[in-house]
Amino acid sequence: MIYRNIYVDGVLSDITVSGGMITSVAVAGSKPVPDEDSVDFHGERWALPGMVNMHTHSAMTLLRSEGSGLPLQRWLNEAIFPHEAKLTSDDIYTGALEACLEMKESGTTAFNDMYFCIESTVRAAHETGICGNIALSVTDQDFDNGNIKKFQFLDSKDISTSISPHSIYAVNGQHLKYLADFANEHDTLYHIHLSETQMEREDCISEHGVPPVVYLDQLGVLDKVGSHLVAAHSLWLDKTEIQLLGEHRATVVHCPNSNLKLGSGCRFLYTELRDAGVNVTLGTDGCASSDNLDMVEAMKVMSLLQKGTRNDPSVLPAEEVFQVATKNGYRALRLDDAVIKEGHRANFFLVDISKRVFKGVMDNNINPKERTKLFLNRFIYAAHGDAVTDTFTAGNAACTPDITS
Ligand SMILES: [Zn+2]
Repeated sequence: MIYRNIYVDGVLSDITVSGGMITSVAVAGSKPVPDEDSVDFHGERWALPGMVNMHTHSAMTLLRSEGSGLPLQRWLNEAIFPHEAKLTSDDIYTGALEACLEMKESGTTAFNDMYFCIESTVRAAHETGICGNIALSVTDQDFDNGNIKKFQFLDSKDISTSISPHSIYAVNGQHLKYLADFANEHDTLYHIHLSETQMEREDCISEHGVPPVVYLDQLGVLDKVGSHLVAAHSLWLDKTEIQLLGEHRATVVHCPNSNLKLGSGCRFLYTELRDAGVNVTLGTDGCASSDNLDMVEAMKVMSLLQKGTRNDPSVLPAEEVFQVATKNGYRALRLDDAVIKEGHRANFFLVDISKRVFKGVMDNNINPKERTKLFLNRFIYAAHGDAVTDTFTAGNAACTPDITS
């Protein structure tokens, strides 16, 4: 199929997609196109590489906004765990399907999930064409009741699976080491909630004598998993911990909306982590704490928090936060999808630039580079995920199907 008259990097273009790949990106009208093989967007759409939601619990759409107003530990124990104990695999499929559709509708083409009954989430991801890593989230209980031994990989072309230790407070040192050996042996991600709250950090220091990242290092986890470590949140870090994460080329996922809603903190050390060599990525977290899976909103909040907490409007501009939400996420998932170019997988989305907030972006007096900069600023700071009209996942039809049952 050829998708005609779409802006790519500020230039009106025709994009050809075949077999899940982008086979050509050419200046609009430069090649003759038969009408039956094309869709004309009349210059009213702008194409961007798909975004990567690097920390989700997708089935938590079922628990959207539960426990509002509670701090993390009470929120988990009083609002979340009692509900989750009653969920069936069918419930998890329904919740995950809802999440995959919501992500696609707002331009997300890949996600990094941790939950239980992963076969339900894998099924939902397959049906919606979204790719990523889907991990079984485990606690010490899963070792006691034998769930770990029953784990089976459900990998396919677009989806990888793994085992995630929930956190250092839900999984003991011996089990954290076992899972690091597992990740090392099977070359899988080690996705863990890490240093999310000040309380987690203080508890770790009083129990183990060192803060969370140093604790993982002393267990040998960092050396074992290296760049496969995906640490969600990591709000409460000191210089030594940042250096350790950088030396191991780890990935950290910032989830600004969830952190703010749960009152976990707002001083994410973006610049320090980036400069230490950490791969900083972006996520929403589950819908119980972030309420939605809108990565456009997450980009805006991340960028504004950096500017506001540092009293510096030049920090984390639109172009850079977009790289955090796309390229860095794909790097963590070991995919090379963050560009709309010939020879790359067709994971991209279209933005409706006829919307009011994009007025003036198409002004003829600006060059493609300036236009792209203005467009990205409007997309991130002025628009929302509902400005996305079509999401292509590895060449599937540009559709966001409705749930019919
Ligand atoms: Zn989480």
